[in-house]
Amino acid sequence: MLSVADALSQILTEARTAHPVTRPLSDALGHVLADDVLSDLDSPPFDKALMDGYAVVASDVRPGGTRLEVVEEVTAGVVPQRMVEAGEATRIMTGAPLPEGADAVIKVEETELDDGDPRRVRILADSALPGQNLIRRGTNKRAGEIVVEAGTLLRAQELAALAEMGCHEVRVYPQPRVAVLATGDELVPIHSQPQPGQIRNSNETMLCAQIRQAGATAVPLGIARDERTELAARIDAGLEADVLLLSGGVSAGVLDLVPSELQRAGVEQVFHKVRVKPGKPLWFGVLRQGDRSKLVFGLPGNPVSSMVTFELFVRPALRRLMGIDPAEPQTLTARLAHSHSHRDDRPTYFPASISRVEDGLRVSLANWHGSSDLQSTVGANGMAVLPSEPVEYSSGDAVKVIRWSSEAP
Ligand code: AMP
Ligand code: MG
Repeated sequence: MLSVADALSQILTEARTAHPVTRPLSDALGHVLADDVLSDLDSPPFDKALMDGYAVVASDVRPGGTRLEVVEEVTAGVVPQRMVEAGEATRIMTGAPLPEGADAVIKVEETELDDGDPRRVRILADSALPGQNLIRRGTNKRAGEIVVEAGTLLRAQELAALAEMGCHEVRVYPQPRVAVLATGDELVPIHSQPQPGQIRNSNETMLCAQIRQAGATAVPLGIARDERTELAARIDAGLEADVLLLSGGVSAGVLDLVPSELQRAGVEQVFHKVRVKPGKPLWFGVLRQGDRSKLVFGLPGNPVSSMVTFELFVRPALRRLMGIDPAEPQTLTARLAHSHSHRDDRPTYFPASISRVEDGLRVSLANWHGSSDLQSTVGANGMAVLPSEPVEYSSGDAVKVIRWSSEAP
């Protein structure tokens, strides 16, 4: 049976980053920039005061209360008209352009008006250094330099840097639309009261949330019965999206019709079954359309299997489509908070709580009752990766862990 690494590599071979699109900057949050963006101006665009106070010639300021003549007042957004010469000062506000001749700004708190006359100021500081309380034109960025590099995931601060450069539109990789189709005769919508033998369709809510957390757009398609005609129609609708996730119907039961109906719809099987716990029945295929393929995942219906296979296989595929690097889940090392007796013949991704402690990461395994035990994931924030052989772990032993969300622990 296929290993996790081989399955992921086959998926990533099929998942190609989408062609870039032009989007308004206001809709670019969470997208990856497709091209380097260069600065169209110096930042700041002029020598600028960083404090409210007086622009002066630094060498004028001496001990004993230097007296200067105030020649002008400049507020932010206004261009100074007068040069500052020896013995002179300009009253200046934060963000205003520095007048020619001045090379320092004295904070207003270090000054007082001479006899209350706004045309004469006394500097209380004993000295001033050239460059103090001001920033020179182009200190932060020169025109023509790269502001944000291609491949950068755009967050608030990158969007602001692009806005400063007047980039009201950007070329980014589009976020895929991901359809979610839950399958199973036993499923009812979450607002329904389940009758004997029925359960609520919790996977749709979970998978749609995981899709959104990954930065893609979720398209919930409701429930398909384990019946060929209905399943075929819903699969056709799902194949309108860039990626289709089905939950359930990929195991060996008599009503597990998903693989055969997908193939009937033209989806080519890449693999079925992975050596992993939970999630062994995972099915993956592609619908080839010219140079692009639609990706189709048949996730096992058990909730923890769906959740874990999404994190291990679907999220990396979505990251690749969106141009986010690296696509693969990042593995960290943590110390076990307790002893644990592990015996399994498949690599096991065990729901766990990972926390930061003084000397690194600490992990506590959840009280997990297997792939149907959704409750064990409530409060967990990741998984511990345990090997395909028996291990008697002691408290403090190092294990690999993977976080479920992108926040750092
Ligand atoms: P299956 O993969 O279809 O054999 O389903 C495996 C188990 O997962 C069964 O106990 C199903 O009832 C359960 N299951 C399947 N689909 C869902 C779903 N959408 N939400 C919650 N549980 C599900
Ligand atoms: Mg089923």
